[in-house]
Amino acid sequence: MDPRLETLRTQAPGLVDDADSLEALDAVEQQVVGRASPIAEIRRGLGQLPAEERPIVGRAVKEVADEIAVLVDRRRSVLEDEAETALLAADAVDLTVPMDERATGTHHLITSTIDEIVDIFVGLGYRVADGPEVETGWYNFDALNTPADHPARAESDTLYVDFGEPEDEMLLRTQTSPMQARYMQDHDPPVHVVVPGRVFRNETLDATHSPVFHQVEGLAVDTDITFGDLKGTLEHFAREFFGPSTGTRFRPHFFPFTEPSAEVDVTCFGCDGSGCKVCGGPGWVEVLGCGMVDPAVFDAVGYDSAGVTGFAFGMGVERMAMARHGLTHIRHLWENDLRVLGQFR
Ligand SMILES: [Zn+2]
Repeated sequence: MDPRLETLRTQAPGLVDDADSLEALDAVEQQVVGRASPIAEIRRGLGQLPAEERPIVGRAVKEVADEIAVLVDRRRSVLEDEAETALLAADAVDLTVPMDERATGTHHLITSTIDEIVDIFVGLGYRVADGPEVETGWYNFDALNTPADHPARAESDTLYVDFGEPEDEMLLRTQTSPMQARYMQDHDPPVHVVVPGRVFRNETLDATHSPVFHQVEGLAVDTDITFGDLKGTLEHFAREFFGPSTGTRFRPHFFPFTEPSAEVDVTCFGCDGSGCKVCGGPGWVEVLGCGMVDPAVFDAVGYDSAGVTGFAFGMGVERMAMARHGLTHIRHLWENDLRVLGQFR
């Protein structure tokens, strides 16, 4: 046998085994069987050999080349397995490593309270609308049967942007009720709508009052709506929002845009009627105002006041949230102290 082949046959297994990566193995393969290898040289020289030697040398070359190919394939498969294992190890996730605790965001209590209130009415088939926070005097007052000399229109209660005639008078809406007029102007009866939004009053901040707060307005208009419908709707709402055993009572009241009008109390969430800090003693908490829509309001928006009836209600969102969660100070809803807000996830 050609001494070069003998040498190769002796050295090749060591070279192949020493290759510690797929790249190194490729280089070894080039070295032992590639174009510059002794094997290639001997093959190129076959033509110069005497005819009787050619098949013998050719067979020897093939034999050694085949042996080396088997060694290389075996080593390659070992190296591929190792590479795969290393990749899996590098990608592995250690589930036992302690994690940094991150605070997750949540809806603000006012937002979630609005969502809960609105959802209850949506469940009854009401639509949801919103409207401008800067209103004209006409929508905020005149359309709602509140004459020019009504005390609510005084500067001491209302925050004015621009004085003038009712149509030009611009103010920060004192209630969500102007949307009653806007909605009825844009929609023919029957109407079932709730309107959440911010309202503004010239008030000093104290435990239960704030110059900016949120209301949800409701309006239902059809041909035969009665006070019984109003009562049934709000009793259903109170049980859904405050809990199934919640009692309600309707006290006669006055609002310019409803007749008759009522204020609605619910049994105190904090004490169930025995008296506590939330209700201030009586066991009842006033939560909303309501009444049958005054025909003058229908006339103002162009509805046929002889042909339709309806009811309206408005509730303060902060008051609802406080009554529901037993908060005694409105500032808990405004300070955005995460330790407080985090309790209402
Ligand atoms: Zn109470």
